[in-house]
Parts: sequence; structure tokens; C-alpha cells
Amino acid sequence: MGRKFFVGGNWKCNGTSDEVKKIVTWLNEAEVPSEDDVEVVVSPPFVFLSLVKTLLRSDFAIAAQNCWVRKGGAFTGEISAEMLINLGIPWVILGHSERRLLLNETNEFVGDKVGYALTQGLKVIACVGETLEQRESGSTMAVVAAQTKSIAEHISNWSNVVLAYEPVWAIGTGKVATPAQAQEVHSELRKWLHENVGPEVAASTRIIYGGSVNGANCKELAAKPDVDGFLVGGASLKPEFIDIIKSST
Ligand code: PEP
Repeated sequence: MGRKFFVGGNWKCNGTSDEVKKIVTWLNEAEVPSEDDVEVVVSPPFVFLSLVKTLLRSDFAIAAQNCWVRKGGAFTGEISAEMLINLGIPWVILGHSERRLLLNETNEFVGDKVGYALTQGLKVIACVGETLEQRESGSTMAVVAAQTKSIAEHISNWSNVVLAYEPVWAIGTGKVATPAQAQEVHSELRKWLHENVGPEVAASTRIIYGGSVNGANCKELAAKPDVDGFLVGGASLKPEFIDIIKSST
């Protein structure tokens, strides 16, 4: 089964409304492959979701950067999955390493969030990835397998899930994984899905790479057979994001 190339842009905690409007303007003016060939999803901060939804071209979709683990209520500062659905936001990023590391989100908590978001009808970009210390000690696969297991336990239907492999040492550092390093982990993750979930899910689930992807390094990464797209941070705020969207064509 063909896996449609997927390019996500994680804007993180950046931008003013004027800056956001500028980004949307160059996104809207860009000539990119058809949505039949490449799925593009941008992820502005919560406060700009409605603005971006109003202005953004209809062939690009929008993701929130997080949501609460359960139904909303007395959870000051949180945003619920129901609210995102109510706003017409189809996607959410969950388990980003910045939240795992800075806000102590555990594997179990991330897995719970993924499960709840899916039950509410959101599509999920679920992130996994090892730290430099874990890579250097040889535990990369054990770490990403444990993270994926906690997520997989909460998924009954994988068609609304994209798995993002984002090595922590590559995020925002300018140290991109080599195409061989990315391919190695992606193919191991696919093998993990094959053995622990099933052959159809392994063959159809998009596994995307994130970590210092830019206009110059994207094509070589995109050429790897198990790299089904990207989650892009810094470069998604710049026009080179368009080159990344085109990298598989
Ligand atoms: C990210 O935050 O998901 C990311 C991949 O960031 P960057 O592209 O800036 O490394």
C-alpha cells in the first residue's frame, strides 16, 4: 500500500499575528505537488489556530501542538481534544520531545493522550526519539520501541496516526541525522510495528523524520525507502519549507 508523503511544520512557541500572516501568505502562494501526492500540515501555537484556519489554503491542514489527556474541565491552561474538534482542527502533535523532557511527559501519559485524542476524532502525529546519551550507550532502538509500545497500546485504528522519529540530539541543533541513520531507525520501527501490531499497519503507517531538516538536506533523506516525510521545526517558519514539501518529487 502506498504511503502518501507527509510534511508537517511545527511552529512551536513562535510568532506574532503579523508574522503568522506573512508565513501563511508565502505558503498560500507556493506551487507545491498536489494533495494527492503530498500531505502538508502546519502547526501554529494554539492562539493562532483560528487565524491560520481562516487564512490558510484549503489543501494544507492544521495541527495543534498538544492537547489534554482527557475531557476538558478544571485543568487550567490546558486545551482539550474536544475544543480542537470544535474549532475544526483535524490534527494534533503529541509526545514531542520538548514536552517529554521539559514538562516531564512520560511514555504512559503520551500514550494516554494519543488514545484519547483518537477517540475524539483527531488525527495524531505521535513523536518518539532518543537522547544523545541514549544513542551513545546503544539504546536507541530500546528507547524508541518503549515509546512506541506505550503509544501503540492505545491505538485500535492506525489510519489516523503518523509516527514521527525525532532524535532529541537532532532537534533544533543543526545536527541532522544522516540518511542512513534515519533509515536504520525507521526500518527498525517498521519492523517493530510488523511484529507487534501487524503487517498491514507496518506497511501503511507513515514514519516521518524530524530534527534539523532543511531545504538543503531534505532530498537525500526523502530518498530513503522508510522515510515517509518530515516533521520540521525551525525551517517550517522559512520559505525553504516549500523545498521540503517538494522533496519527494
Ligand atoms: C521539531 O521541533 O519537531 C523539529 C524537528 O525541530 P527542528 O526542525 O528545528 O530541529
